[in-house]
Amino acid sequence: MPRSTPRRVSPYALLAAAAVLAIAVAVTGMVIWPGGTESDGARRPAAGVTAEADPRALAGRTVVIDPGHNGGNSADPRAINRLVDAGGFRKECDTVGAETTDGYAEHAFTFDVAVRAAEELRARGATVILTRNDDQGVGPCVDERARIGNEAGADAVVSLHADGGPPQGSGFHVIAPAASPDGGNDGILPASGRLANLLREAFGSATGQPPADYLGEDGITVRADLGGLNLSRVPKVFLECGNMRNPGDAARISDPAWRQQAAAGLVQGLVAFLTDGGPRDGGTARAGGGGGSSGASASPGS
Ligand SMILES: [Zn+2]
Repeated sequence: MPRSTPRRVSPYALLAAAAVLAIAVAVTGMVIWPGGTESDGARRPAAGVTAEADPRALAGRTVVIDPGHNGGNSADPRAINRLVDAGGFRKECDTVGAETTDGYAEHAFTFDVAVRAAEELRARGATVILTRNDDQGVGPCVDERARIGNEAGADAVVSLHADGGPPQGSGFHVIAPAASPDGGNDGILPASGRLANLLREAFGSATGQPPADYLGEDGITVRADLGGLNLSRVPKVFLECGNMRNPGDAARISDPAWRQQAAAGLVQGLVAFLTDGGPRDGGTARAGGGGGSSGASASPGS
């Protein structure tokens, strides 16, 4: 620029600066001024509800999220060790769950991801029921967790877990139901298998987490020994988000930003499953059934 030209700010530079500020506000939700930050005052989740969420995408659909285990389980072995029906055999009510070597517990992880996912699903119009409403209680037992999904007439149920596998093994996997010993879950096997496949794809791409390298096949296992799957009468899978005993997986699981990605992957998988056949007009599939009787917004006790 010639010396004789007076120094002035190019209009393009001003536009660029304004654009940078707008992007910063959009991303962080905060206006950053020299000398300090100023929040907009709204309390928001770590990454917020996805901006492009269609508030009607899941209208009329009911999703049950089942965060595995519970914070009070370890203090009440008598309650969680009692045997309950698991679909043709009896099994412990619940277990304590896994934890990382640093002591981050699976029950805390699953509850955190469940709350994040519930917010995203509700932003898309879904009715969301959690099988427990805090992380301090005991149980519920596996049969009760299944019953909550059944009585809600849920369109889909996902039990959230993280594995306690061999330390050298890493990655996530989805557990789909096999036919239960009592034959009671035959009706959900095809849909649950489809849910498992869609969730595997969505979770992997949202998190960058590879499929488990220590069990299953390409991120899927099929089991008949889980009461929560054997007793379900609505499409249901377990999502094992990673291996808490593996250092790399444990670092991701312990990171709130990754947990938001995990919730996003869960939500995307559910959206794919619930919208695959196109929007459904309310009462067709379950017309006259018990779907409405449970009360769409009822929250189960735990
Ligand atoms: Zn678990």
